[in-house]
Amino acid sequence: MAEALKADVVIVGGGTAGCSTALHLRQRGLSVVLLEARLCGSQASGVNYGGVRRQGRAYPELPLATRSRAVWDRLPSLVGHDGEFVVSGHLKLARSDAEMAELETWATGARERGVGVELFGRNAIRARYPWLGEQVIGASLVADDGHANPRLVAPLFARAARKAGATLREQTRVTAASRDAGGFIVGTDKGVTVRASTLVNVAGAWGHEIAAMFGDRLPEELMTPNMCVTEPLPFVVEHNLGVVGGNVYIRQIARGNVIFGGGSGWGDAGAGRARALPPITSGAIARAVEVVPGLRGARLLRSWSGLEGAMPDGIPVIGASPSTPGLIHAFGFSGHGFQLGPGMGEILGELVLEGRSATPLQPFAPERFAAAGIAAR
Ligand SMILES: Cc1cc2nc3c(=O)[nH]c(=O)nc-3n(C[C@H](O)[C@H](O)[C@H](O)COP(=O)(O)OP(=O)(O)OC[C@H]3O[C@@H](n4cnc5c(N)ncnc54)[C@H](O)[C@@H]3O)c2cc1C
Repeated sequence: MAEALKADVVIVGGGTAGCSTALHLRQRGLSVVLLEARLCGSQASGVNYGGVRRQGRAYPELPLATRSRAVWDRLPSLVGHDGEFVVSGHLKLARSDAEMAELETWATGARERGVGVELFGRNAIRARYPWLGEQVIGASLVADDGHANPRLVAPLFARAARKAGATLREQTRVTAASRDAGGFIVGTDKGVTVRASTLVNVAGAWGHEIAAMFGDRLPEELMTPNMCVTEPLPFVVEHNLGVVGGNVYIRQIARGNVIFGGGSGWGDAGAGRARALPPITSGAIARAVEVVPGLRGARLLRSWSGLEGAMPDGIPVIGASPSTPGLIHAFGFSGHGFQLGPGMGEILGELVLEGRSATPLQPFAPERFAAAGIAAR
C-alpha cells in the first residue's frame, strides 16, 4: 500500500550506527524515519564477535573510538540496558619478537593519544597469565576495553529511538533515492516513500549501493569474519584476547561460553547471507588452542559469519557526499565498527545539525579514494 512519510532526516540502515543516530537526532528534536531492509541489528551489528576495543586501531580512528567508549558506559541511562558490556580489558598477544616490537610501537603512539597501555614481557606473562600457551612471549593490555553482546545493542538503540519518537520501518528496503529542489525522495519495496531534507547512509556492506544512487562511487568491499562459540566452560579467559596479525580472537562470557574467530567465511551481499566455512573454523580452533590450551577438546555449539563492508585503507567512510548536499555517508567500518556504533549517533548527529563534528573526521573523507586514484570496482 502506498504511503508517503515526511521527516527532517531519513536514515538508511538499522545497524548500531543507524539506530544510535536515530536516537540521537530525536533527542536533539529532529523528526526521523529509519528504513531497514531486514530487522534492526540483523546484519553485521547483530552477528559480530562483540569486541569493544580501542587497542590495535589505526591512530586516526582513536578519537572516534575514545568518544564511543564513553557512550558505552552510558548505555543503561541511554537505552535502558548495558548490552552485557563488560570492561574486561583487551589483551593483545605477541608470539615472536617482531610481534612484540609491533605492540611496543603501537603503545607509544596510543599513549601519546591518551590511551592507557600496559606492556608485559615473557616472565610477566607467565606469572600473570599461566593459562596462556607457551608460544605467547609478550602482550599489551588496554584495561578499559571490553566486550558486549552484539545481539542486544542495535535492538536496544532501536527500541530507545522508537520510544523517543523516531519512525522505524523494518523489512523495508530502499530501492531508489534521488534529490530535487524539495530535498530527498526515497522509494522502497513496500510502497513507502519518504521525503526528507537530509539522508544518512549507514547501510553497512551495502553503503556503496546507496552512495551509487547519487553517483558517489566508493570502493567498498565485502569481508566475512568466521566465528564460532563453544559450550559453557569453567571461567578462565579473563580478557578479550587478540593476537598481532589478528588471525585469532577469543572472549569468554559470564555464562562460560567461549566465542572466538579468525579467518574468513563465505558471504553473498546480494542474497544477504553469510556462513562459516569448516576448514576455516578448524584453523581458528587450532590457533585458539595454541593461545589458550585449556580450550582443547571443548565442543562447539555453533559457527557463523556476517557481512561487513571494508574500505581499501581499513578505515570507514564518514562524511558529506562529494556530490549531493544533505547526503551523509558512514559505512565501510572494516571489521571494527561495533565499538564505534554507539558513538556514531553523536558524530552523525553533529554532521546533520552543524555540518561538522567535534571529533576529527578528515581521515574518513569520502573523497580520499578518488584523490588517491582508487576506483570502485
Ligand atoms: C562476523 C563479524 C565480526 C565482527 N567483529 C567485530 C568486533 O569484534 N568488534 C567491532 O568493533 N566490530 C566488529 N565487526 C564489525 C561490526 O560488526 C560492523 O562494523 C558494524 O556492526 C557496522 O554497523 P553498521 O550499523 O554500520 O552496519 P550493519 O550492522 O551492517 O547495518 C546496516 C544495515 O543496513 C541495512 N540495509 C542495507 N541496504 C539497505 C537498503 N537498501 N534499504 C534498507 N536497509 C538497508 C542492512 O540490512 C543492515 O541491517 C564484525 C563484523 C562481522 C561481520
